[in-house]
Amino acid sequence: MKSLPCLFGGIEAGGTKFNCVLGRSPAEILERASFPTTHPEETLGAAIRFFEQAQARHGAIASLGVACFGPVDLTLDSPTYGFITDTPKPHWSNTDVVGTLSGALGVRVAFDTDVNGSALGEGSLGAAQGLDDYVYVTIGTGVGAGIVVNGQPVKGAMHPEVGHMLLPHDRQRDPFPGACPFHGDCLEGLAAGPAIEKRWGRKADTLPEEHEAWDIQADYLAALCWNLTVSYSPQRIILGGGVMKQDHLFPRIRERFRQHINGYPCGEAAECPQDYIVGPMLGGHAGEAGALLMAEAIA
Ligand code: ADP
Ligand code: ZN
Repeated sequence: MKSLPCLFGGIEAGGTKFNCVLGRSPAEILERASFPTTHPEETLGAAIRFFEQAQARHGAIASLGVACFGPVDLTLDSPTYGFITDTPKPHWSNTDVVGTLSGALGVRVAFDTDVNGSALGEGSLGAAQGLDDYVYVTIGTGVGAGIVVNGQPVKGAMHPEVGHMLLPHDRQRDPFPGACPFHGDCLEGLAAGPAIEKRWGRKADTLPEEHEAWDIQADYLAALCWNLTVSYSPQRIILGGGVMKQDHLFPRIRERFRQHINGYPCGEAAECPQDYIVGPMLGGHAGEAGALLMAEAIA
């Protein structure tokens, strides 16, 4: 009898909800469920129960992958490896995510940031399929990026925090001081959803296409794309997250990005912004797909 490939578990652990999947690969998901991110005991408990019940129906998982909101500790020999560390999300600071899940389910757990998970997912089935060097950025409640180089997410001493990069900020054109509690007008402080809302006094999704908010926003995101290009030389940059539901931003960002190039040689990919600065393809499913791939990699 031909044996079936292994089963894996994946969790996209977001600040709003935990998306849990059990499957053989991102293309073959057998069960999924979603739980609101409330209290660690409640939400991790719900995820554990999901995997226990799904395993009873389909068989044991070989390993689990968790793509987690942060900040997280990814240093393997750290005493707090696998923890959510100091997060503004109430109740979640110092939560031992890996220890809780591996203890309850008895499997090894691969752990990474939520954006690295989404990046891996988009690389397997989505907008970066077949590429080894690319960046996935989410512009939502915060701004974060998964940077993939040679097929591997960049980890660094902690993990990159692209959302806090500093950008040119013309205070005459945009007097908003920024909303980041640490830096004021870093990228996240200027361009995340809550920053847009604070600047204009209304929710970002209610601002019409012709509102000046979007020209300013396009400038910041084009500067981000330029900085990523000259830092990592990716083959593609994927811009996702709630704010990028404003599709009209893409042509504006590409146009300004072209102005940043200004004839400077930065590679064939970047010189064709239409295919270089793109939206995600997996929508809300990128993180869970990446989490499954992380699980497979340690099985
Ligand atoms: P999260 O970052 O919490 O995972 P999202 O990526 O959905 O979630 O980002 C939420 C942010 O995106 C909110 O600040 C919201 O105002 C903004 N947002 C959601 N939908 C839109 C939209 N259609 N246009 C502009 N901004 C949006
Ligand atoms: Zn900041």
